[in-house]
Amino acid sequence: MSSAEPIVPPGPSTVDLHAHTTRSDGILAPGDLVAQAFAAGVRTFALTDHDTLAGYRDVVASDAIPPGMTLLPGVEINALVTRDLGLWEGELHILGFGMDPDDDEFEATMRTQRARRRTRFERTVERLRELELAIDSQVEAMTTEDDDALGRPTIARALIEAGFASSVEDAFQRLIGHGGPAYIPREGLQPTEAIKVIAAAGGIPVLAHFGEAPSRVPLLRELREAGLAGLEVYYRSFDTPTVAAVADVARELRLLATGGTDYHGDLGTYAETHALCWVPPEVGVQLTNRSAPRP
Ligand SMILES: [Zn+2]
Ligand SMILES: [Zn+2]
Repeated sequence: MSSAEPIVPPGPSTVDLHAHTTRSDGILAPGDLVAQAFAAGVRTFALTDHDTLAGYRDVVASDAIPPGMTLLPGVEINALVTRDLGLWEGELHILGFGMDPDDDEFEATMRTQRARRRTRFERTVERLRELELAIDSQVEAMTTEDDDALGRPTIARALIEAGFASSVEDAFQRLIGHGGPAYIPREGLQPTEAIKVIAAAGGIPVLAHFGEAPSRVPLLRELREAGLAGLEVYYRSFDTPTVAAVADVARELRLLATGGTDYHGDLGTYAETHALCWVPPEVGVQLTNRSAPRP
């Protein structure tokens, strides 16, 4: 197959395997996001909140899965590479699909991840205060005491609210992104650990939005060695040549291709974001078939 083959969406995508809710750093409540995805035509959906399956549990507990939709339990673990991994440094985001929501060990690991996330969040707010960019009152209004998964998008929104940034992108570029004056390094799982934790709970580990994949094949082989089973190919902000190149890598390494919007809510409505992201229907079928069936 040629990597120059254009991707022409024949219609609205029925698959979205990457989205965030208020259970981490998204804007919509889990039930609302599921309803909006269904209305947009999505029939295979995964909530992939950071370090938690709470959104999936909310939707299941309130019986809010629309008839005809397959909802997969999902998670996204942002892992920091601090040990040698193909001599590459940075963050790798590992998605997991189909974990057993009742796996206690998985839940305990996610709880530790969330505690570290909270610490990092508080230290970032502190650093911003030192830089005379106090966002304490905005953060207080935007979060609750038991908010499980506070992230930098929340800080970015507070910076906008306080008039210190013009957009989420601006906040990341000037202040809180890697190398910025208010950047606090992440602590937590290494990518290979995240992969193993997901697999141990019966999930399928997938590397998210890694546009560098074509030039990082040795690194991907190392991750595959650790249990990586898939690569996010049909990612909302990838251009067509990138999708084609990452798809080639997935084929070459026999990794499952996945895809999704990574919807948080900052760039428009769900329907608008969904319209920009084509995920072929067979991607949903292949992933659902690989997920362990749950009673
Ligand atoms: Zn991510
Ligand atoms: Zn994400």
